[in-house]
Amino acid sequence: MKLFKHFDAESIDHVLEMVTATNGKTALMAGGTDLMGVLKSELLAAYPEVVINLKTIAGLDTIKMVDQECRIGATTRLTDIAASEPIQTTFPALAAAAASVGSPELRNMGTIGGNLCQDTRCWYYRYPDKMGGRIPCYRKGKGPCHAIRGENRYHAILGGKKCYAVCPSDLAIALGALDARVKVVGPTAEQMMPILDFFNVLGTVLKPDELVTEIRIPLPSKTAVQIFLKNRVRDAVDFAVVSVAVMVDQEEGVCRDARIILGAVAPTPYRAFAAEAAINGKSLNETHVAAAAEAAVKDAKPLSQNAYKIDITKALIHRALLSS
Ligand SMILES: Cc1cc2nc3c(=O)[nH]c(=O)nc-3n(C[C@H](O)[C@H](O)[C@H](O)COP(=O)(O)OP(=O)(O)OC[C@H]3O[C@@H](n4cnc5c(N)ncnc54)[C@H](O)[C@@H]3O)c2cc1C
Repeated sequence: MKLFKHFDAESIDHVLEMVTATNGKTALMAGGTDLMGVLKSELLAAYPEVVINLKTIAGLDTIKMVDQECRIGATTRLTDIAASEPIQTTFPALAAAAASVGSPELRNMGTIGGNLCQDTRCWYYRYPDKMGGRIPCYRKGKGPCHAIRGENRYHAILGGKKCYAVCPSDLAIALGALDARVKVVGPTAEQMMPILDFFNVLGTVLKPDELVTEIRIPLPSKTAVQIFLKNRVRDAVDFAVVSVAVMVDQEEGVCRDARIILGAVAPTPYRAFAAEAAINGKSLNETHVAAAAEAAVKDAKPLSQNAYKIDITKALIHRALLSS
C-alpha cells in the first residue's frame, strides 16, 4: 500500500472540515473491510492522501427507536445489528441480511454505512493493479464493460447497459424492502433520501465531500411479514448470487401491500414493481405467487453465462412469498 495520513475523526463537522481542507483527497473509513482491499489494489482513480476514521465519532454507532422509526448510526457494526433485540423483533429481514454478510470477523469490523457504500465486486473492476496492470473499464471512467463479452456468471441480468457490475450490499436489499431512508450530510446541506435513490449504476449518489450518518426505518405495520433470502455459492464468507427481500402485508388472506427488492441481479438494488403488482389485492396462492415470480424477471436480459440467475430469482421470490 502507499503511505497515507490517518486521522481519527472527533465529529461529523470534523470530517467535513478535513475533507474540505484536503481538497477532497480523502477516503472515509469505517470498518475498513472493503476500503483496505480497494486501496491495496489501487482501484481508485486517485490514491487518497488522507484516510479519515469514522469509528472514533462518539454516538454514531447506536440503534434507537424514535418517533415511530428506528435510527441506526452509520458506524453501527453488522454484528450489533444482527444481534439487536429490537432489530430482530421489528426488522427481521435486516437482522437476517446483516447476519448473512461475510464472516464473524467481517461483521465485527464492518458497519452499516460501509456496507451501503462498499465498492462493487466485479472481477474486472477489482483486478489488482499489481497483477499485470489495471483493467480500464466503463466504471473506472474509460473503456468498455468487459463482462459483456467476458466471464459474466455473477453479473447483472437486469438494468445493465454500460456496466453490468452488481450492487454487492446485502443490507441495501433488506433496507429497500423496509422503505428505509439514508441521511446524507455534506458541507452545506443534509438530506434524507429513500434508500433506493441512494444508488446509481456506478455505485452511490454520494458526492466526494458527503457522508452517510444515519439510516432511518419506519416501523412496519404490525401485520407485515418480512423475509430476506440469499443464494450464494457457499454458505459462509460469500456474496449473494441472488438475494430477495420482501415485506408483505396481508388482510384476511389478501395481500394489500408488497415491496419486493432483488439483490445481485442489477447494478442497483432492483425493485420488482411488476411482481408487486401481480400479487397486490390477491391471495398469496401458488398461481399468484408463480405469476409474481415470472413478472419479476420479465425484463431480464441475461449475458452469455448468467441466465441461471433468472431461475434462482424466481425460486427465491416463490419461496419468500409462499412463506409470508
Ligand atoms: C471476504 C469478504 C466477504 C464479504 N461478504 C459480504 C457479503 O456477504 N455481503 C455484503 O453485503 N458485503 C460483504 N462484504 C463487503 C464489506 O466488507 C462488508 O459489507 C462491510 O459491511 C463493509 O463495511 P466497512 O465498515 O468495513 O466499510 P469500509 O471498508 O470502511 O468502507 C467501505 C466504503 O464505504 C465508504 N464509507 C464507509 N462508511 C461511510 C459513511 N458513513 N459515509 C460515506 N462513505 C462511507 C468508504 O469510504 C469505502 O469507500 C465482504 C467483504 C469481504 C472482504
